[in-house]
Amino acid sequence: MATIETLKKKSLPQLKAIAVTHFHKFIRNRDHGQPCISCGKHTTLQAGHFYSGGKHPTVRFNEDNVNGQCMRCNYYFSGNLLPYRDNLIEKIGQERFDKLTLNVQMSKRTGFKWSKLYLIEIIEKYKALNK
Ligand SMILES: [Zn+2]
Repeated sequence: MATIETLKKKSLPQLKAIAVTHFHKFIRNRDHGQPCISCGKHTTLQAGHFYSGGKHPTVRFNEDNVNGQCMRCNYYFSGNLLPYRDNLIEKIGQERFDKLTLNVQMSKRTGFKWSKLYLIEIIEKYKALNK
């Protein structure tokens, strides 16, 4: 098992990739057996972002922002966001959805910088949750 010391020696892109692996595994486990958040089909799910993880780094690892989604909606329909929005509000409630949106809007003003510590915390958190 990689210790924190081992993780500290890794680069930001390496840490980001490890964090994605653990976080996405958590999302797939959490939503296992549920239908695709966008089209409602029961199939193998991927971790699909509502607000793009690339454009909105503050919600890249936000559990409300990432939900089980089929490959068709995730890749070919670019997230299939219209039904995603409705079903996400139904899943987490309007209040949490508004909070998520506010998070995205605020980060446009405040900016965001990745740090090793932030990513190591994500890795440790989801590694433990996936056990
Ligand atoms: Zn789908």
